[in-house]
Amino acid sequence: MIKASLRDIPRTDLVGRPLLVRADLNVPMEAGRITDDTRVRETLPTLRLLRDGGARTVIISHLGRPKGPDPAFSLRGVSDLLRESIGGTVRFHPGLVGPEARSAVDSLEDGSVLVLENTRFHAGETKNAPELAGALADLAEIFVNDAFGAAHRAHASTTGVADEVRMRGGKAVAGLLLDREIKVLGSLLREPERPFVAVLGGAKVAGKVEVIRALLPQVDCLLVGGAMANTFLCALGLELGESLVEEDKVELAHEILRDAGDRIVLPVDCVVAKHIEDGAAVRVIPRDSVQPGDRIGDIGRASRELFGGLLDDARTVFWNGPMGVFEMAAFREGTVAVARSVAIATDRGALTVVGGGDSAAALSVAGVAGKVAHVSTGGGAALEFLAGAQLPGVAALSDR
Ligand code: ADP
Ligand code: MG
Repeated sequence: MIKASLRDIPRTDLVGRPLLVRADLNVPMEAGRITDDTRVRETLPTLRLLRDGGARTVIISHLGRPKGPDPAFSLRGVSDLLRESIGGTVRFHPGLVGPEARSAVDSLEDGSVLVLENTRFHAGETKNAPELAGALADLAEIFVNDAFGAAHRAHASTTGVADEVRMRGGKAVAGLLLDREIKVLGSLLREPERPFVAVLGGAKVAGKVEVIRALLPQVDCLLVGGAMANTFLCALGLELGESLVEEDKVELAHEILRDAGDRIVLPVDCVVAKHIEDGAAVRVIPRDSVQPGDRIGDIGRASRELFGGLLDDARTVFWNGPMGVFEMAAFREGTVAVARSVAIATDRGALTVVGGGDSAAALSVAGVAGKVAHVSTGGGAALEFLAGAQLPGVAALSDR
């Protein structure tokens, strides 16, 4: 079912109207400082469209995982950042619902923005409590969900409020970012241009099994690296020393390999060390030469060339999860090589999509941030979407 988007709302319906926008302002913070503003930047097109249309924008979002009201998780700092990024009037109100929030909304001028306080200060948020959803729906007749990163959760500020707004005869629509995420990720599942090469890595098979199963019928090949590959190599009966292996997923990996045939491509060599630490003495060895006591920290040179060659021909690429412990220089090259191959594929005109916080960070480490067609703002949401799950935040929107 195609969902209504902000673009479907006539401009004349925006002027002078309060619109409630669920943004994803859940930025990473360290010691009270915002360390990465990507999520704020990504939602700006939606906010600019509303401002230029003369709407009165009311933003709600969660930030972190506070157990209740907690100044350390206030959205005030994020609203300051928003003011610098968007220009114009951006106000902050230290509450979310009720008469005071209502009067803050009522006193908005056309084209201005109001940021309300963290939705997770209310216990009803994660429980999708009808009272909270109803109180949020009291704030506006049009609800815009732009929080793709939270679309896989059925919370009061994502699904509850959308249901409530629709029930009262209003509209719940996708913001420009959420709309783009769904379109790009959806195009990977619907007749992708071939060859379609997926690259999966990272620490765990668990949580990504459904994605592997859903992607396998779609892709021409699935390259597996990172600790995830260890579990597959273990399923082939190889010695892995002290490497990270999910013992309880080996049987599953075996089944997947049996069903996938040669579409799953595993590393042929690896970078090992006695300890995964900065400055570790490393050896690059074939995958069948791992000694007891060795730990695999990255894919080796032959694997980099193998993966790079397959990515060279790709017309569609999806990448999630680093090829090694890329946080440390000694185990970084596999991930950097994949990041560069993805950037080169983009230059050649391939549709390239990267999902996952660590994978996005790896693009920066490799110096190719901005050189992929689409970096998803929702790691978990992107994976669930690709695995075929109906995202509750999307399902709750009005049909077009
Ligand atoms: P993303 O955030 O992109 O979805 P994940 O969170 O699944 O990626 O995985 C990232 C983590 O996987 C990184 O912290 C990285 O150090 C770790 N990792 C990758 N390969 C290995 C390995 N061989 N051994 C241990 N950890 C690994
Ligand atoms: Mg991660």
